[in-house]
Amino acid sequence: MDILKIIEKIEKNKTASKQELAFLLENISDSELEQLRQKAQMTAIQSFGKNIYIRGLIELSSYCKNDCLYCGIRRSNRNAVRYRLSKEQILSCCETGFALGFRTFVLQGGEDPYYTDERMCDIVGTIKSLYPECAVTLSLGERSAESYKRLYDAGADRYLLRHETANPDHYARLHPSSMSRKNRVDCLYELKRIGYQTGAGFMVGSPYQTYENLAEDLLFINELQPQMCGIGPFIPHRDTEFAQKPQGSLRLTLTLLSLIRLMQPKILLPATTALGTITPKGRELGILHGANVVMPNLSPQEHREDYALYDNKICTGHEAAECINCLSLRLKSIGYQIVTDRGDYK
Ligand code: SAH
Repeated sequence: MDILKIIEKIEKNKTASKQELAFLLENISDSELEQLRQKAQMTAIQSFGKNIYIRGLIELSSYCKNDCLYCGIRRSNRNAVRYRLSKEQILSCCETGFALGFRTFVLQGGEDPYYTDERMCDIVGTIKSLYPECAVTLSLGERSAESYKRLYDAGADRYLLRHETANPDHYARLHPSSMSRKNRVDCLYELKRIGYQTGAGFMVGSPYQTYENLAEDLLFINELQPQMCGIGPFIPHRDTEFAQKPQGSLRLTLTLLSLIRLMQPKILLPATTALGTITPKGRELGILHGANVVMPNLSPQEHREDYALYDNKICTGHEAAECINCLSLRLKSIGYQIVTDRGDYK
C-alpha cells in the first residue's frame, strides 16, 4: 500500500478502509507524516484561520464511583486525595475565567454522585444566567438519558464523553466489567440526539491497543460525527495497575490529530493537556498538526494536583492568569492567537 495515496484518498473521500488506516498508522515515514501534517494544518487554517479557541477547564471533583483501570482518580485508588468544589467555588472560577476572556466553561469531574441533577442544573443555570454569552460544557461521565436531558434544559450546551476505545474487547481490558463500550456509545448517541454539541475521543497508546483499534476509533468518529474530538496520549499513573505500562507516543498522537483533521475539517480538536505533559511543546505541535482548541485549567490552584488522572500533569502550580499568558506567548511563537469566542461548531 502506498501511504501518500491513502492520504490523498482521505483528503478526497474523508475516509479510508480500516486496513488502510491501520497500515498508515503503523508505517508512515517522517516525510510522509510531514506531508500529512501540512495538509492537516492547511485544512485547520481554512476552517478557523490562525485562531485558537480556549475552554476554561474547571475540575469539579476528584471523587469517582467508577474504576477505570488507567485513571488515577479511580474509586479503588486509596492514595488519591479527594475534593469537590462548591457552587460558590465553581462560580468564582467562572468569574476569573470570564475576565481572562474565556467564553466556554468546561465542568469536568469524576462520576461523583454528589452532583445530582438538581445540584448540577442549579449550577449550570446560575452560570448561564450570570454569563449568557458563554457556553457551558459538561464532562461528567455516563448518566441517564433523562439526566442528560435535564442538564440540557438547564442550559448546558455541550458534553464531552470520550469513547476511550471503539473496540468492545479493548474497552473491556481498560474498564471494570460493570462498564461497557455499548453503554458509552449509547450515551454519545443520546447526547447528540438531545442536541448537545458532543465530543467523543480516545487515548493513544493505552495498554493493549493495536493499530487496528486506532483505525476503528477513526472510523467510529466518522460514524458518530461528533462536533468535538479529544485525543491525548495515555500516561501511566503510579497508583494504578497500569503504572508500569509505557506512555502513548507523541508521534502517533500527532499523526492521529492530523488524520482526524483531514477526515473532519470542521471538528473542534483540542491540543490536550496530556499532549503538553509528555513533551514541553506538545500543545504547539498539536496545533501545527491540525488542532484548534486548548483547554487551560481554571480550577482553584489548591486542588489542581489532586485531579490527577495521570502522573506529572502540567500547569498544576500556576494560576489561571499565568496559564493563559504562557499559552498566548506559546501560540504567538508559532503564529497563532487565542480568541475571545464561544467557539461553537459551525
Ligand atoms: N468522568 C469523566 C471525565 C473523565 S477524565 C468521564 O468519564 O468522561 C477525562 C479523560 O481523561 C478521560 O476520558 C480519559 O480519556 C482521560 N484519561 C484518564 N486517565 C488517563 C491517563 N492515565 N492517561 C491519559 N488520559 C487519561
